[in-house]
Amino acid sequence: MVHDHVHISYGVSKLGADIPSVNLPVGCTCRKDAPCFKKCYARRGRFSFMRNRAYLETNLELWHCDPQFFEQEVTIAAFRSRFFRWHSSGDIPDADYLAMMVRIARNLHNTRFLCFTKKYELVNAYITAHGALPDNLTVVLSAWGSFQPENPYDLPVAHIRFRHEAAPIPENARLCPSYCGDCVITGMSCWDLKQGEAVVFHEH
Ligand code: SF4
Repeated sequence: MVHDHVHISYGVSKLGADIPSVNLPVGCTCRKDAPCFKKCYARRGRFSFMRNRAYLETNLELWHCDPQFFEQEVTIAAFRSRFFRWHSSGDIPDADYLAMMVRIARNLHNTRFLCFTKKYELVNAYITAHGALPDNLTVVLSAWGSFQPENPYDLPVAHIRFRHEAAPIPENARLCPSYCGDCVITGMSCWDLKQGEAVVFHEH
């Protein structure tokens, strides 16, 4: 089958040029009742530009029509990097995709992967069925104010500090310094979050 390549993003300003990411469209990959949709930065920033939106759609199409090819292309991109980010835009589309993320992490021991998600049930069901995620795949459950994850496995949680609303934020949450390119070398980044830990972001 001849088709487009998976688009890997190297220029996400928050991540820096050394942290590639693969991105998907928002909305169709997000949980149906996602409370953050109206304020989602991925619908306003660089991912909202027409060409970038087309890349996101192509990535999702490739996942649907040729998942092996998708996995192979992401593996090649991640192989060259110490740190890799799943989804600056979009979320885990389905359980097979999460299984692919786990396979890639298991195959690439020298790369550390990070994924924020509101697909809590999908991640919890995977762990229930297959056991713990690999150590080099950090999955962080994203809360949104009072919209808090079901978290039976005590996965790390990301919180938002809203400008005009109070939100429950644990005292141990690390405040995001905003630029991952510098943060990853501190050993205190989101890639290093462990069970029971948390990070907090200021509302965009
Ligand atoms: S805490 Fe660090 S790694 Fe996490 S999002 Fe913020 S800058 Fe990036």
